[in-house]
Amino acid sequence: MMEKNKRINWSEKRVLEELEILGSKLNHPIRQKDMESPLINACFRYFGGLENAKKVIGLESSKIVWDKKLRAFLKDNQDLSFEELSNKIKKSKGSIKTQKSRMGLRNTKKWNSEYDEVIRNNYKKMNNVEIGKLINKSGDSVQQRIIKLNLKRTPEELFNLMSHKLEEHPNWKNGKSFEPYNKSFNNKFKRAIRKRDNQICMLCSTHKEKLKKALDIHHINYDKLLSLPQNCVSLCHSCHMKTNFNRNHWVKFFQSILSEKYNYNYSDNQEIVMEAII
Ligand SMILES: [Zn+2]
Repeated sequence: MMEKNKRINWSEKRVLEELEILGSKLNHPIRQKDMESPLINACFRYFGGLENAKKVIGLESSKIVWDKKLRAFLKDNQDLSFEELSNKIKKSKGSIKTQKSRMGLRNTKKWNSEYDEVIRNNYKKMNNVEIGKLINKSGDSVQQRIIKLNLKRTPEELFNLMSHKLEEHPNWKNGKSFEPYNKSFNNKFKRAIRKRDNQICMLCSTHKEKLKKALDIHHINYDKLLSLPQNCVSLCHSCHMKTNFNRNHWVKFFQSILSEKYNYNYSDNQEIVMEAII
């Protein structure tokens, strides 16, 4: 490499020498970002640009090589998610969409419409991970896509989907004790939640034996219609009262406790990610 602070008397010959030295040190074709600015300038001055200078001494062109690689890569990996694709091709200039259209590959919109139909037809049977795998290809989040498609699941459908997944879960021994939604917030459900929480208040750790009455079941997001294990937590009456204030704080607080204790998943905007329990 060129020594810093040392004035170089540039010439065509000197530019080529520097490029050869640099090229032998790199395990990829020389790009401008590998070079210091005096050399870049000299390339332009004597050869009209880096690629021209490289051509003179038979060095590989980074541009062409990359495009070839990209073309091959994209053709071999059409099923990758957008995130995976963008990670792979972020070195290259232009958006994924631009790159893909340059390669003559299908664009985002077409992917969307193909998968939208599948999602639309199977929405009530699919969990968010399954939907996510399809939606990934469109570059949207699950929530964005569901909103765009104007899809809704009733609480009953949601609960049935949940119960189904719970029963499949080998670590969830009480899964079968959860009734369909319309009867779900009953004593059986509450007992199962207290049992899951080892009969202690999840805030102050007081055991039910020390309390004169049963532990309350608190709905974490304050939606009493959403009686899912992920949304319910055992609290003593005194702690339950505290949750009437600073609601945002408590939602995050209990979700973080449950996600740690039971591997439930919640999104950044405090929604339940159902598949965490699969
Ligand atoms: Zn308590």
